[in-house]
Amino acid sequence: MSVARKKTLSRSLKGVWRKTRELALVGHALLSTRHAVMAQIVPMRFCNLSCAYCNEYDKVSAPVAVEEMSRRIDHLARLGTSIITISGGEPLTHPDLDQVIARIRHHGRMAGMITNGYLLNPERIQALNRAGLDHMQISIDNVEPDEISKKSLKVLDKKLQYLAEYADFHVNINSVVGGGIKNPQDALTVSHRALELGFTSTIGIIHDGSGQLKPLQDEERRIYFEVRNLKKKNYSRFNQFQVAIADGEPNQWRCRAGSRYLYVCEEGLVHYCSQQRGWPGIPLAKYTREHLNHEFLTEKSCSPNCTVSCVHQISYIDHWRAPQNTRVNPPSQHEEKSELVQIR
Ligand code: SF4
Ligand code: SF4
Repeated sequence: MSVARKKTLSRSLKGVWRKTRELALVGHALLSTRHAVMAQIVPMRFCNLSCAYCNEYDKVSAPVAVEEMSRRIDHLARLGTSIITISGGEPLTHPDLDQVIARIRHHGRMAGMITNGYLLNPERIQALNRAGLDHMQISIDNVEPDEISKKSLKVLDKKLQYLAEYADFHVNINSVVGGGIKNPQDALTVSHRALELGFTSTIGIIHDGSGQLKPLQDEERRIYFEVRNLKKKNYSRFNQFQVAIADGEPNQWRCRAGSRYLYVCEEGLVHYCSQQRGWPGIPLAKYTREHLNHEFLTEKSCSPNCTVSCVHQISYIDHWRAPQNTRVNPPSQHEEKSELVQIR
């Protein structure tokens, strides 16, 4: 058997094994509400880029020590967390990222990462394979870099080619439309390129955060739905959450943040999500199954105009059960903010 054929076969087998593990965790999530499904952890708030819409990075933070990251991952495993996604800042700037990924896999959990892709090269991708990474998401905002974002197809295409050649993990490319993105057509170009290279593709919305949700302009809306209807459908296409956002309409749903979804910042505090830091703001080391149960049944007043699609996807698993009987009132995601915000 040729080397190329062996490589293809090995990748296919790894893909089947990953899908099997994903199905098992969906089954586990459906059977019981007494554990977290997904956690996003931040090992590094520093980022090597400065996207104009982003409020999730700085230019000064040091990496969180790998021993501390291991303690946090161990506790997330104790809380039954099935998927642990590493974000930032830019995770690839963390010097011990591979050990962080390996620790997640040591517990048998799915390991994901959200990156801007700038630091990828063949050696880095092969190291991520060895560490056991399951999923990578790269968000590409435009075809040519501009003052809003340098996450551009022109800059990143070579990195995507490396991923197509070397990555054993699943790669999703997220494109965007909305406020600040000059050319909505770029999202279509990015999605076509993603599919051409064998990746999945999703599309998100950037809006200005100055007020309530606003509907997309006609051309943005047309492209938004065209991208959603491309092949290689991803799970996120199966819910109507972002459709309502595209139309500027509120959603009726039960946010299970703090329970089924946890956001753990670089300081090791649990927050509902990246847009509600400080709620509840409890150290992860002190977070218990009682906290999970309490937050599962707590209604969040910011939910109708929420734009955090990953929390919606996780919460959707429990859409049909357990009405919430207490309520908290964190500020609306867009109150007192004038910057652009990216929907994830
Ligand atoms: S969106 Fe990502 S790449 Fe851009 S500044 Fe924020 S963390 Fe960095
Ligand atoms: S902003 Fe969205 S995800 Fe975050 S707590 Fe509010 S409703 Fe939940």
